[in-house]
Amino acid sequence: MARPDWAPHEIDLERPSIARVYDYWLDGAHNFAADRQLADQAVGIMPSLKAAIMGNRAFLRRAVKYLTSVGVRQFLDLGSGIPTVGNVHEVAHQEAPESRVVYVDIDPVAVAHSRSLLSDDPRVSVLQSDIRDPETILSSPEVRDLLDLEQPVAVLMVALLHFMPDSEDPLGIIAGYRDRLAPGSYLALSHLGVEPGEEPEGWLRYRDLYAASVTPLTSRGKVAVTALFDGFELVEPGVARMPLWRPESLDELDDDCAVFPGFAGVGRKP
Ligand code: SAM
Repeated sequence: MARPDWAPHEIDLERPSIARVYDYWLDGAHNFAADRQLADQAVGIMPSLKAAIMGNRAFLRRAVKYLTSVGVRQFLDLGSGIPTVGNVHEVAHQEAPESRVVYVDIDPVAVAHSRSLLSDDPRVSVLQSDIRDPETILSSPEVRDLLDLEQPVAVLMVALLHFMPDSEDPLGIIAGYRDRLAPGSYLALSHLGVEPGEEPEGWLRYRDLYAASVTPLTSRGKVAVTALFDGFELVEPGVARMPLWRPESLDELDDDCAVFPGFAGVGRKP
């Protein structure tokens, strides 16, 4: 297969990546046959997956709007993905044009594409890094040059921590950011997860497929997601099913909201 010029040399085009599979689900153009095959297979197994992904993106937009409405002007988007539409800087700049955003992802395609799109905007920077290393990220020139860590920062971990099993200490990773940020900073996160007995059709087969093809998924229910906000004060309505976190209109909600396979919340560091 020919390697397009946006595909860095180190990536294996035959191996699906989390970022590129997700890009395909969002109708992006930065994915390969291996990514599309896995993405189609996953949706075939678990038909509600596509709605779950759209529900996640809608949460991301509402969370950024909420954060700008409470005065946040600095965003650190961890596991930011391949830019499509409705990215954090677009939503933030619509609400508050002076907002600054640092995108961080481990995936070379996500980073290369983000850089090529955003290199002209001095309010945005992009860093290729592993979010499990808060110290390196927070002391990087990309963060230091753009964000004032003496002022509140919103850390976004949207559709990210279900890739971190407990053995990787997600609470410790979050604390690594929380403890270095100013009071008044925020954590916004969303997380795939189902409560026992509420598994959507195909859920177990989808998890098996992902574990075999890309990376294992850790499902966390409401209690476990709430525990991730240790050291933060949850804003209303607390941790909720993604579509039920401050919906813009009740017309958006359908009956499946009550069993939506994922949770989200926003918390403030006192
Ligand atoms: N946050 C975006 C959203 O919700 O639309 C993208 C979510 S996508 C499902 C997850 C992203 O996390 C992928 O782009 C993947 O490369 C990135 N990711 C996974 N593990 C990571 C890690 N350890 N460090 C940095 N990025 C990571």
